Amino acid sequence: MSRTNVVLNPLECTQQALNWIEKKSLTHDEMVALNKEVLSNFKEYVNPGFLEYRKSVTAGGDYGAVEWQASGLNTLVDTQGNEYIDCLGGFGIFNVGHRNPKVISAVESQMAKQPLHSQELLDPLRSMLAKTLAAITPGDLKYTFFCNSGTESVEAALKLAKAYQSPHGKYTFVAATGAFHGKSLGALSATAKSIFRRPFMPLLPGFHHVPFGDIEALRTQLHECKKTGDDVAAVLLEPIQGEGGVILPPKGYLPAVRALCDEYGALLIFDEVQTGMGRTGKMFACEHENVTPDILCLAKALGGGVMPIGATVATEKVFSVLFDNPFLHTTTFGGNPLSCAAALATFNVILTENLPAKATERGQQLMDGFRRLAVQYPEFMMEVRGQGLMQAIEFVKSEVGYSFSREMFQRNVLVAGTLNNSKSIRIEPPLTITAEQCKQVLTRAEEALKAMRALSPTHQPTMSVA
Ligand SMILES: *Cc1c(COP(=O)(O)O)cnc(C)c1O
Repeated sequence: MSRTNVVLNPLECTQQALNWIEKKSLTHDEMVALNKEVLSNFKEYVNPGFLEYRKSVTAGGDYGAVEWQASGLNTLVDTQGNEYIDCLGGFGIFNVGHRNPKVISAVESQMAKQPLHSQELLDPLRSMLAKTLAAITPGDLKYTFFCNSGTESVEAALKLAKAYQSPHGKYTFVAATGAFHGKSLGALSATAKSIFRRPFMPLLPGFHHVPFGDIEALRTQLHECKKTGDDVAAVLLEPIQGEGGVILPPKGYLPAVRALCDEYGALLIFDEVQTGMGRTGKMFACEHENVTPDILCLAKALGGGVMPIGATVATEKVFSVLFDNPFLHTTTFGGNPLSCAAALATFNVILTENLPAKATERGQQLMDGFRRLAVQYPEFMMEVRGQGLMQAIEFVKSEVGYSFSREMFQRNVLVAGTLNNSKSIRIEPPLTITAEQCKQVLTRAEEALKAMRALSPTHQPTMSVA
């Protein structure tokens, strides 16, 4: 971690990097050099902590696993030529697959014309994407603010709710325990994981958390806030919690939340950054129960796995607080032409290929398969749950989940799971994953579990985990 005896020449650094970028293939020696360089750069200049957590280092063989290119819609290849089936989907980025040709083509065409906007003339693609969002989102959601990430889309939703509700004397927020909404100070105030929050206390005042899926707890919270004068400006929820481990609320919860918000005059914000864009079998997860929020947050897969983009869509009633002064909340790159081109092509792909229906079909195939394995391997697997292609396998403990994700990695399947949080392993492949690839994933999962059983000190299920 010391750079005392290294003289860094910035021009050389850029030249070397540009050479790698231009390369179409690697010799064995080049691969070894590249992988060594990348590992060393992470250690010296990114964050050595990452190397402890990534399976690509611990399970990646002699040189670690360094990604090289997307080899198909649902697969990627590392510098050593190993091809992985992507069942992690970038935590919900790659709904239309990797390098989807329609998204790439739209972005390339726009790139050739004008990549970023002048900031003064009217940018056409922003207007067309906003119109598309008004057409595709449920209910009377209509106006859109564009930004660059999920966190920013939540941040904008919170500010919008504040601007709308402060004249009504409402300043507080209610979110759910287990929620993930991002890690900027505002979004983090809504996020509910102590490990992410503690070092940054105190966070924004006025945030309450209630157990997710418990309608009585929400009713009590809204009631208490009203009694104390801390009236609630908005309730913020993920329709299905993602980071929290793919937690589905009981049926009827979301409509009941909508009714409670209306009763107390609180706005309802849905964070569909992960559940949106077809992931759960509908374009937006809130459509499973026909519930329309006042504000909808989108990002991740919105950019088609090619560009980063976030969006905060709101009803005219709520959004109109920004009409007088549209500069109240802005960001330089939000809604830029390349991102809007990517998002427009993404919606086109999801609609023409009916990817929500594919998510339902392939989701059923994977869930049936994993549930069969859960019956065969009860000493490891506790539960398989989810909706569409947003699924989680809950293991008996974190170490077992990590072993599973490691074994899967060694069998060239990417699943989510980190050293410090692997009790629930998330399965979120591209919605374009084929039936054949799902079959392979299940075969490799069975092999992984078989290997884990063989490695455990005794085959007695109750004593198997050291
Ligand atoms: C990933 C995620 C975010 C944060 O999005 P970023 O693009 O990482 O800022 C917010 N909300 C939910 C539900 C997410 O899954």
